[in-house]
Formats: sequence, C-alpha cells, structure tokens
Amino acid sequence: MNVVVDLNRCQGYAQCAFLAPEVFAMHGEEALLYHPVVPDGQQERVLRAVAACPVQAILVGEEAGTGER
Ligand code: SF4
Repeated sequence: MNVVVDLNRCQGYAQCAFLAPEVFAMHGEEALLYHPVVPDGQQERVLRAVAACPVQAILVGEEAGTGER
C-alpha cells in the first residue's frame, strides 16, 4: 500500500504521527515526514490516520499510486 500526503493541505495537526508513528513523523513544529510505502502490518494504523486527519490530506492505495498531484 502506498501513501501520499498533500503537504499543501497538511496543517501539521500530527494526528497521523500519533496514530501511525512508524509511517508519519513530525519534523519540527509543522513539517511532516512520512514513508511512501506502508510497511506490512501498518495498514490499519494508516487507515485510522487517514480517517483522523482533520483536513483529509492523506491519500492511500490507488489514489496515491498514480503519481499525479
Ligand atoms: S493528520 Fe493530516 S494535517 Fe495532521 S499532520 Fe497528519 S497529514 Fe498533516
């Protein structure tokens, strides 16, 4: 499963880093770092992070795999 975060939309709320810390991490106050390829066993956490993101900035699966923005 692939994941893409729209960093223009991301407001640094860090919900994702809290819910799936192996995939998302805050770097400083606002910058988000993430793993574009979700490790096995992390899918469920990532889906929870997707649901929790207040601005729907996280795309997963086929939406994230097109390479388009
Ligand atoms: S939960 Fe959404 S807004 Fe918050 S840091 Fe993650 S991607 Fe950005």
